[in-house]
Amino acid sequence: MTKQGIAILGSTGSIGKQALEIIRDKKDLFEVEVLTANNNWQLLVNQAIEFLPDSVVVANESHYQKVKEALARFPIKIYAGKDALVQIVEKDGIDVVISALVGYCGLFPTLAAIRAGKKIALANKETLVVAGEIVMRTAEENHVPILPVDSEHSAIFQCLVGERADVEKIILTASGGPFLHTPIKKLREVAVEDALRHPNWSMGAKITIDSATMMNKGFEVIEAKWLFGMDPKQIEVVVHPQSVIHSMVQFTDGAIKAQLGTPDMKIPIQYALTFPERLPLEGNRYDFLKAGVFNFYDVDLNRFKNLELAYQALRRGGNAPCVLNAANEVAVHAFLDRKIGFTDMPVVIERTLERASLMDSASLDNYRLSDAEARIVAEEIIRKKI
Ligand code: MG
Repeated sequence: MTKQGIAILGSTGSIGKQALEIIRDKKDLFEVEVLTANNNWQLLVNQAIEFLPDSVVVANESHYQKVKEALARFPIKIYAGKDALVQIVEKDGIDVVISALVGYCGLFPTLAAIRAGKKIALANKETLVVAGEIVMRTAEENHVPILPVDSEHSAIFQCLVGERADVEKIILTASGGPFLHTPIKKLREVAVEDALRHPNWSMGAKITIDSATMMNKGFEVIEAKWLFGMDPKQIEVVVHPQSVIHSMVQFTDGAIKAQLGTPDMKIPIQYALTFPERLPLEGNRYDFLKAGVFNFYDVDLNRFKNLELAYQALRRGGNAPCVLNAANEVAVHAFLDRKIGFTDMPVVIERTLERASLMDSASLDNYRLSDAEARIVAEEIIRKKI
């Protein structure tokens, strides 16, 4: 492998930190060109001092001065603001952009990176949820590979390597999160702390709540549609609480391929960075004899209404997934701020989808307006309890 220049959008988050751990062990293969963070400027500074990137961006401009002073002795360029994220990805020397921002804000920097011809290692699933058609078309026009970092999509991608046959369906596995067996009546009262306790994966707060409500799985269905060109009917979700089978592909002859391993995000991150190579990686190995049993369950859509809402938005098409995402971001933050309860989240999203303006096909400007409108609608629903 020739040495690759890496930009990490969101280097202080869970994916960003693990990507840097991989890079630390493989310094001969990777050169860190750009690191970016939103609020955690101290960690950004520490990462910059260790990896000496060409540039850092702190999206929250109020931290600019502190970052500037802390890095004054180093030959590192420092930028601030959300527009800087969009500009920095075009820089020469970047071969791969790891898109690991959380939420809608990941869309525009990722699109800018695609237009600049940079390979994308995609962890920010909202990019495809909001504007999947435009993102995939732009990637095709620019001959840019989009390599999935999401564990399920990495699994599917790995199952498809070397295959030219048609796919009958893909089977996305879901852990079921912390409330798989909680009585439905009790879901109303679950605390933020309980929802943040994921049984298998350690992740940031937003995606952990999305996992507890299964909106995360709904987003992954939409992500799978765009990444692999599937019809929604070809994407099945199966609950598999052990999270060892990361997803499966069923071909038209009935054969099924699965990708398995311990739940460790470093595997999909490294695979996205090194594809088509598969390189050694230290870590725990899965032991079939110690673990014993795999379970599978159908998804209870009364418990996980968000998954049904995501399928509805996907079938509706146009800007509906964009509205779904905006309403979800508002609802998750309101839940984390303890303004609404756990079971209020799907109610807010469903009502926002009923009230926001929907259109059959949408441009990027439409998505911008639609995202803003849906946030206002969702916030009003929460404020007025309507
Ligand atoms: Mg996932």
